[in-house]
Amino acid sequence: MNETVHIIGAGPAGLTAAINLAKANLDVVVHEQNNDVGLRFNGDFQGLENWSTGDDTIDFLRSVGISVNFLCQPYSELTVFTPSGSRHLVKFPRPLFYLVERGATGASLDNGLKQQAISTGVKIIWNDKVEEVKQGKAVVATGPKSADAIAKGIVFSTSHNDAAITFVDNRIAPKAYAYLLINGGKATFATCLFEDFKNERTYFESALERMRKSVEIDIQEPKEFGGFVNFFFKPVTKGNRFWYVGESAGFQDGLWGFGMRYAMMSGYLAAQSIIKGESYERLVEERIEKILEVSVADRLIFSLLGNRGYEKALSVVDNLEDPIAWLRKWYNPSTLKTVMFQVAKRWYHSRLIDKQCMHVDCDCVWCRHGNQPHGHGMESTKN
Ligand SMILES: Cc1cc2nc3c(=O)[nH]c(=O)nc-3n(C[C@H](O)[C@H](O)[C@H](O)COP(=O)(O)OP(=O)(O)OC[C@H]3O[C@@H](n4cnc5c(N)ncnc54)[C@H](O)[C@@H]3O)c2cc1C
Repeated sequence: MNETVHIIGAGPAGLTAAINLAKANLDVVVHEQNNDVGLRFNGDFQGLENWSTGDDTIDFLRSVGISVNFLCQPYSELTVFTPSGSRHLVKFPRPLFYLVERGATGASLDNGLKQQAISTGVKIIWNDKVEEVKQGKAVVATGPKSADAIAKGIVFSTSHNDAAITFVDNRIAPKAYAYLLINGGKATFATCLFEDFKNERTYFESALERMRKSVEIDIQEPKEFGGFVNFFFKPVTKGNRFWYVGESAGFQDGLWGFGMRYAMMSGYLAAQSIIKGESYERLVEERIEKILEVSVADRLIFSLLGNRGYEKALSVVDNLEDPIAWLRKWYNPSTLKTVMFQVAKRWYHSRLIDKQCMHVDCDCVWCRHGNQPHGHGMESTKN
């Protein structure tokens, strides 16, 4: 008889793991603390980036066992407003990203993955917040735990055409960017912050004002939302029976917070590790770790650019034939990036500590200490 694999969390990482395990005929149970998928989100648009690797995102999705049964719209143009207010229209030879919706609704990525999971035979238990797993294999896919970067924004209806617009200016988005994504009469506008979180409202209001001055757009029925992302490194397993995936493993693009591909990739790799008995650490090292280290090195470079640096960078981009190839180079490993990563890691040192990790030798899904004794049964707050 198959041993049941428990998946904690029904986000992209957990559901990708579940779908692949179920396709390999393993018994899979997903435990989700909410009564549906995607409730951390608000129907906001996000981008599945298409620049960090050579493969197209649609092929990537296929390669990790995911079909496209959700809104997944390619965007090949990006308008960038610099701190001085100058407007740059950047055209890409292939999609820069694929727009997806996050939340529990019909066309959302989360709902699409839920449908795929259910149709492959995955059982999902809702309203089941799991704190401990005392026995058996568990894929921990519980999302971020602390905030390394935050976003504050609105979702709204509009008559504006589909568009992707971004604003770089440390006065409205410290060490990050603000973004406006419009698709089919719906829009998401948010500002991201890599520091000074306590002033998020002031930054958001200034960003909104800047956006309204720069873009002629009607904003109907706005609803506020916020969120955060988390990145850190290792460990990715515990006691040979916990596999940490997605943001609960700290897998997040350190440069700009595009974590969805890493969530799905790590869910897929955890499933492969369980199915084939391969080392998850090694798979992560080969497929994820290097690129994430480079992204953290890039974060250090980006955070040093300042408003003048953004202006200069955009004047470089204006003259590029293939801006995607230029972006991809940022993610190439090099000796310089390895050195910069070591510096950046110290810089982000305090954030690499999992503050909720307070126990040793335990079955708690939050902790990573390993060597925990194997107990009996599985406990959750529902039981
Ligand atoms: C505002 C915002 C904008 C973003 N924009 C982008 C973007 O444009 N592109 C991009 O690639 N990424 C973006 N990201 C990041 C991306 O959303 C995440 O990297 C991705 O969702 C991580 O997936 P995950 O499966 O690891 O975690 P999540 O999506 O957070 O899913 C975790 C799930 O686990 C459940 N859970 C948590 N604890 C428990 C428990 N104890 N028991 C049971 N269930 C539990 C949660 O309810 C949740 O459903 C953005 C994030 C935010 C906040």
